[in-house]
Amino acid sequence: MKFEEFRIHPQILKSIYKAGFKKPTDIQYKAIPPILNGEDVLAIAQTGTGKTAAFVLPVLDLLIKRKIANRPSGIKCLVMVPTHELAVQITQVFTQLGKHTSLTTLGIFGGVEQEPQIQQLESGVDILVATPGRLFDLVSQQHLKLQQIEILILDEADHMLDLGFIEDIRQLIQRLPRKRQTLFFSATIDPTIKKLAYSLVHNPIRIQISPKDPVSRNVEHGVIFVAMDDKRFFLERFIQEHPKSKILVFVRTRVRAERVKKAMERVGISSLTIHGDKGQQERFSALSRFRDNEVLILIATDVSARGIDIENVDYVINYDLPEKAENYVHRVGRTGRGTRKGQAISFCSEEEKEVLQQIELFLDAPVAVWQLTQTEYAETLEFTQDTSYNWRKLLEEDDVSELKRKKRKK
Ligand code: ADP
Ligand code: MG
Repeated sequence: MKFEEFRIHPQILKSIYKAGFKKPTDIQYKAIPPILNGEDVLAIAQTGTGKTAAFVLPVLDLLIKRKIANRPSGIKCLVMVPTHELAVQITQVFTQLGKHTSLTTLGIFGGVEQEPQIQQLESGVDILVATPGRLFDLVSQQHLKLQQIEILILDEADHMLDLGFIEDIRQLIQRLPRKRQTLFFSATIDPTIKKLAYSLVHNPIRIQISPKDPVSRNVEHGVIFVAMDDKRFFLERFIQEHPKSKILVFVRTRVRAERVKKAMERVGISSLTIHGDKGQQERFSALSRFRDNEVLILIATDVSARGIDIENVDYVINYDLPEKAENYVHRVGRTGRGTRKGQAISFCSEEEKEVLQQIELFLDAPVAVWQLTQTEYAETLEFTQDTSYNWRKLLEEDDVSELKRKKRKK
């Protein structure tokens, strides 16, 4: 199957080949035709399988054809995303693949000045990619009109329809024209969210791909059992033994992100952090330095990494296991993207074994255990360059007592 067979506009085809896409991925193959037909689509496909282009390509095509028909100007397509970083990324894909068209795309999100965004909106925008917060600000200030919208897309749909955003989304939908096309894209979706998604559209939704194994087949993943207070020694050793690799490390909290960074600093390893306590510019800068291989280690919390597509992340390390099982899939899916392969390793402590069970329940399969011999374990502790045991003691007490408190609450 070739992209030509979709009969998409030659100006778009040109950009597809320029991007190096030789043939459509499975989800593109299945989602593009119904979208071109104007149908509502709920598409579930594994991480890194090209979901973005699966909606960007047909949307560009539909809008070019309709634009030729010379209709009133205004935003025709609205893409909602959970984070600023993702808004930027998706805007880039629209811009890249729409380069040879006259369509314009704008990304809007909070944490940066509003004025330049308003000016751009006034100069005319066909496709708007937005996070809910800034979108609502601009709508309520009447800088943004939604009446011309023909296509609504929710990327990371399960997250967008989850508690934090659902009320915003409902309100937004009430303001949109009733006659419109709605598209949902996600790597994971649970039955409640699926029901909710169905309730938001009037046309029947087609489910394109529903993978049995939500973890991408390009990702080899496993778990090693490590005591909570030994984790940093394992991370240190892993990084030292893979000096040229690009590694994304996930931790449970913002505070822990900074702590792990400090622990690595102490043993001469430089890293960057990205999480909700950081200013927007800092977050963008950390991401772009990591993207450009300036720094090879990025320590992140869950929220900041959803949907993010960074080329050649060699390893994902779950320094802490994610508390929400589906986030396991999203985290390990930051490697093994497109046609590449990747590896993910989770550090599971005694206290986290319950969480691991929940993850396995969600995956409906066990996570492979990568056995460490006692000698290997002991070697790792000897390997460390760090001698500050007081600090180690503190960290240990802190984490264990926090987890114990949580357990008691349950
Ligand atoms: P998803 O949203 O499914 O997690 P993305 O849309 O971010 O995945 O795409 C993952 C990577 O695959 C991107 O780097 C993208 O450029 C690449 N990609 C998308 N479509 C194709 C294709 N048809 N052929 C090769 N690479 C592709
Ligand atoms: Mg995506």
